[in-house]
Amino acid sequence: MSTKYVFVTGGVASSLGKGIIASSLAKLLQARGYKVTNQKLDPYINIDPGTLNPYEHGECYVTDDGAETDLDLGHYERFTGCPTSQANNITTGRIYQNVITKERRGDYLGKTVQIVPHITDEIKRNIKLLGNKGEYDVVITEIGGTVGDIESLPFIEAVRQLRWELGEKSVLIHLTLVPYLSATGELKTKPTQHSVKALLEIGVQPDVLVLRTEHELNADLRRKVALFCNVAPKAVIQSIDVSTIYEVPIRMREEKLDEIVLEQLGLPLNSEPDLDSWKKFLYKLKNYSKEIRIGLVGKYVELHDAYKSIVEAFIHAGAVNDCKVNIVWIHSEELNEQNVLERLKNLHGILVAPGFGHRGIAGKLLAIQYARENNIPFLGICLGMQMAVIEFARNVLKMEGADSTEMAAKTHYPVIDLMDSQLNVTDKGGTMRLGAYNCELLEGSKAYEAYGQKNIQERHRHRYEFNSKYKEEFEKAGMITTGINPESGLTEIVEIPAHKWFVGVQFHPEYKSTVVKPHPLFVSFIKACLS
Ligand code: GLN
Repeated sequence: MSTKYVFVTGGVASSLGKGIIASSLAKLLQARGYKVTNQKLDPYINIDPGTLNPYEHGECYVTDDGAETDLDLGHYERFTGCPTSQANNITTGRIYQNVITKERRGDYLGKTVQIVPHITDEIKRNIKLLGNKGEYDVVITEIGGTVGDIESLPFIEAVRQLRWELGEKSVLIHLTLVPYLSATGELKTKPTQHSVKALLEIGVQPDVLVLRTEHELNADLRRKVALFCNVAPKAVIQSIDVSTIYEVPIRMREEKLDEIVLEQLGLPLNSEPDLDSWKKFLYKLKNYSKEIRIGLVGKYVELHDAYKSIVEAFIHAGAVNDCKVNIVWIHSEELNEQNVLERLKNLHGILVAPGFGHRGIAGKLLAIQYARENNIPFLGICLGMQMAVIEFARNVLKMEGADSTEMAAKTHYPVIDLMDSQLNVTDKGGTMRLGAYNCELLEGSKAYEAYGQKNIQERHRHRYEFNSKYKEEFEKAGMITTGINPESGLTEIVEIPAHKWFVGVQFHPEYKSTVVKPHPLFVSFIKACLS
C-alpha cells in the first residue's frame, strides 16, 4: 500500500493543541492496526531547537538518533510508543541549509534559486522522505505556527503543491478556535471563517475542521461552519477542553476523527480501534488511592513546558502506582540555607532537573544535601546527577570547592569534567553527546532493580561527565557507579546504596516514558516515595 499523508495546520491562535490532535489521530489509526508516524515542520530559522533557550521554546526533546527536536515529538512518542528521528522534525533553517549547500555544490546548474520551486521542493522532499521508507501507511505532518504568518507560507505552499500531486492520497485538518463571549453567552465562528479564508487565499482547502472550544458546539453551529468553509458537516468536529491531554484520543474517537480521515484517504475502517489499555490508563489516572508531593528543583520552573517530558513521565509512572503525583515547583535560585528546610520539609521525593550554566546551582546543591541527609528519595537527571556528585564531593569527601569545569574551570577538584570527545568542539549546535547509548547496570543496584535487566539504552544530551579519576574515592565513601557505558567506560548512573533511594543519571529517562511503557526509574522512584 502506498503511504497516505495527513497535514495538520492551525489558525486563529497558537497553542490550540495541534500536536495533541496530531498525536491523538496517530493513536487512533494505530489502534486500528495502521502503521503511522508523526512529523513536525517548524517555521523558524534555527537549524534545530537545540540552541534555543527553554524560555523561548520549552523543552528540547531528544530522539534515539540524537536529534534535538521540538517538544511535540515527545507527545508523538508518548501517545504512540513509536520512536521518532531527525526526519520527524524539520525547520526552515534546515530546509535553507540543505538548499544553500546544494547551490554551493552547483546542483542547480546555473538556475536562479528561489522559494518556489527550490525551497518548496526541499520541503516536499522532506515530507515524502518518511513515506518513501515504505514503513508507514500514514504520515501525519503538523505545520508549526499559525496560518497567515509570513514564516509558515512556504510550508503551506509546499502542502498545496504536494496535495495536488498526491491527488486522493491526502487529507488536510485545520485546527481553529471558537471563542465564547461570556457577556452575550455566544460562541463565535467568525475567526474560523477568516482562518479558512486565509488558507483558501493561498490555494488550500481544508477537509476537516477541528474547532477548539470551551463549550459544546451544537449541530447548527457546525452546519454553519461547514457551509461557510466548504467542508462536510460531519467533518466539523469539536475539541473541547479536557482535564488531561490523554483524554483527547477518546474525545476524537467520539467525534469520529479517525473514521472521517480514513474515509477521505480511501482506507478501510477495519475493526473498531483497540483502546483498552489506553482506557485502563485513563481510569487509573482519574481513580488513584494515594497522593504524593515531589519537589522539582530547576531554574526554568516558571515555564512548565521546559520540563514537559519529566512532568509527563510522572503522570505515567503515577498511574502505575495508583498514585497522583503533585509536582511542587521549586525555583533553584530561590532556595537558600535559611529557607531550605521550610521549602522542602513536606516533600515525599526530590527531583533535580537537567540544565546548563551556573544560575541556580547553589539551590540545587542545597536540595540534594537535604535529600541525602534526610533519606528522602532523590532522582537527579543530567545536571541534577552532576550536582549530586559535586554535593557528595564537597560535603562527604570534604573536597573544598569541588565543582564541574562547566561552572568553575579552575577548580582543584574537577569531579565533573568535559568529556574527551568534547575537547576540541567549538560550535554549539548539535555537538553534545546526543541520543541513545548503551548502559550496563550493576546487579543489585536500585537501577538494576528498577529496570529488571542488565543492558539498557537511554538518551543523552550533555558535554560533561563524572570524572573517573575520582571513582574509587567516591565508592569508598559510599557513592557508587551503578551504570556504565561499556564502549567508553563513562559513568552513566551513580547511587548511594545506604540511602533509601538516591539515584543520579547522566541520561534523560524522561524522554522514553510513554503511556504504554512508563519509565522504570520513574516508577521505582515513586514507589520509594510511597514507602
Ligand atoms: N550542563 C551539563 C552538561 O553539559 C548537563 C546537561 C543537561 O543537564 N542536559 O554536561
